[in-house]
Amino acid sequence: MNKQILLSTPHMGDRELEFVKEAFDTNWIAPVGPHVDAFEQEFCQLTGASHAAALSSGTAAIHLALQLVGVQSGDEVFCSTLTFAATANPITYLGAKPVFIDSDRTCWNMNPDLLREALLNRARVGKLPKAVVVVHLYGQSADIDPIVEACNQYEIPLIEDAAEALGATYKGRSPGTFGRIGIYSFNGNKIITTSGGGMLVSDDAALVAKARFLATQARDPAPHYQHSEIGYNYRLSNVLAGIGRGQLHVLNERVAARRRNFEIYASALGNLPGIEFMPEATFGHSTRWLTCLTIDPATFGADREQVRLALAEQQIEARPVWKPLHLQPVFAECECIGGTVAEDLFARGLCLPSGSNLRTEDLERVIQAIAGASEFSKNTEQQEIARLLHSTKEPRC
Ligand SMILES: *Cc1c(COP(=O)(O)O)cnc(C)c1O
Repeated sequence: MNKQILLSTPHMGDRELEFVKEAFDTNWIAPVGPHVDAFEQEFCQLTGASHAAALSSGTAAIHLALQLVGVQSGDEVFCSTLTFAATANPITYLGAKPVFIDSDRTCWNMNPDLLREALLNRARVGKLPKAVVVVHLYGQSADIDPIVEACNQYEIPLIEDAAEALGATYKGRSPGTFGRIGIYSFNGNKIITTSGGGMLVSDDAALVAKARFLATQARDPAPHYQHSEIGYNYRLSNVLAGIGRGQLHVLNERVAARRRNFEIYASALGNLPGIEFMPEATFGHSTRWLTCLTIDPATFGADREQVRLALAEQQIEARPVWKPLHLQPVFAECECIGGTVAEDLFARGLCLPSGSNLRTEDLERVIQAIAGASEFSKNTEQQEIARLLHSTKEPRC
């Protein structure tokens, strides 16, 4: 039996355990401590962010970001549709409503022209959104300059969901550092992980201080536990921040390894008819957090789902590209501006195993399985036809 090849698994370096041991040795087993402070500082140095607050998850960071820019019950928030549900769920925590925006074919992220158009239309009827949440998908930055410009024109705060894009660049800078607030995730499947964790960054020191305040139950500066606001328990543990510090040391290596995965996949499969890889935008460097491709079933001879099943048959985990949020039952009532590009990327898009700890022989196995997938699906189709023919031959009454 072949060993299972997973989509994206944690990959520890040499220093994480040292930092964790230090937390134990000094008994800083708390959601505050020296590792948390150092993790925030080192994260700022690495990304160029001015201020950072380490939190328990990327979702928590989005929740706080929305609240910090003033999103309230009944407000609307524009949001990328091609993304993970965690991008939009916190909009609903606040009683606000997401309005989804379609992707651009060249980078798979929010289409700036659609955003500009939608904002103008909303300004005309006096119904502007309270915030915009843009996602940097699969390790690739959105085309952020025109998005920032459009938001600035209408004085709408921009929140960047860079959960999947730590280590990427846009014109030499880190996605997540362009908007009013940026967020990152250190969940187990991300490019670096603290097992669970997140970061909120901003140029505004007061905003980040407010994030820390809200993340620790909004305790007023009084010895008797006084509260004038509703807070949350969203701070990162000092133990996990230790893991994060170790992981920051190897981020560049992780990016290089994931880009190498992509190069190997692309050179082996790029010429197959009907296969196209997610393009890398000209404005920056993608981390290739996940290697994604689209499959044209007519030319390739099998569709995305058939390929996924052929891989699963060989103990290889691949996943469809995110199902657009406007197609999710839970967001069925929400408006979507455009949507056909995201729908097409979902229908044809597949994410391949992309961990930085994959071995060359793992990649070879995935490549062989994809190359053989159209044969595999032809065979299963033949088997099904045979079964159907056989069953129709059963005597009927
Ligand atoms: C992972 C992810 C999140 C959520 O981060 P968690 O740390 O898992 O809460 C949000 N947005 C996107 C695009 C993600 O991929």
